[in-house]
Amino acid sequence: MGLVDTHCHLQSERFAGDRDAVLQATLEKLDWIVVIGDDIPSSEEALPLLGPRVYGVVGMHPYYAKDCDDATYDRLREMAARPEVIALGEMGLDYFNEYSPRDVQAVAFRKQLDLACELDMPIVIHNREADEDCYAILAEYAPRLAGCIMHCFGSGPDYAEKFLDLGFYISFAGNVTFKKAVDLQEAAKIVPLDRLLVETDAPFLAPVPLRGKRCEPHFVSHTADFLADLKGVDRERLARETTSNAHRVYRIPQPTP
Ligand SMILES: [Zn+2]
Ligand SMILES: [Zn+2]
Repeated sequence: MGLVDTHCHLQSERFAGDRDAVLQATLEKLDWIVVIGDDIPSSEEALPLLGPRVYGVVGMHPYYAKDCDDATYDRLREMAARPEVIALGEMGLDYFNEYSPRDVQAVAFRKQLDLACELDMPIVIHNREADEDCYAILAEYAPRLAGCIMHCFGSGPDYAEKFLDLGFYISFAGNVTFKKAVDLQEAAKIVPLDRLLVETDAPFLAPVPLRGKRCEPHFVSHTADFLADLKGVDRERLARETTSNAHRVYRIPQPTP
């Protein structure tokens, strides 16, 4: 079993010139990938890319919470009905870049959580510098959630523990490989292998030794190898466990060996 990139933005304009080539190179190296939207246009742009081994997630990033109205949620519901769309997100709170006011972010977050509960779909959470409020909202919804991924985890071990206690999965991107990411690495150490995921968040956050380059989904192998070494487990085993977790949380049946 190979690796999975559980979160990338392949529809990004950063791939406009060579998207097909990147996708082909990716599918030669990875089992499958997940293309994530962060507003209505980018969710719609993800749809034509979906097909065998390419799944989609649609949602509104907290940056764009101020743009949400009733039509937004209607359109998300329509897109979510497609069989290749496997979850809702990325949704959440971002207090680092407060492009939408905090109370407006919370409303859009709750609206999408309500939709996920109604549709019984897993969710992908974006949480930046908003641990306390993000945790409070998610704790309220946790008993009703079909599955939850804390994407591009950016908090320390204390909140890793709290989100794990809610039954969530913790996903690490290339920034965990950065030299100064000590707190993040401490968090990665305590995440059990059966709750760990890997992602790129491509085109952002290329892992060491490719840091600074445009990130491509198959770069996820560097992050996975780094995590295996950090946690002192066999690289093969880390790949197997994270891929198996991705199948479980996104509810994609595993091929029988
Ligand atoms: Zn994000
Ligand atoms: Zn993202």
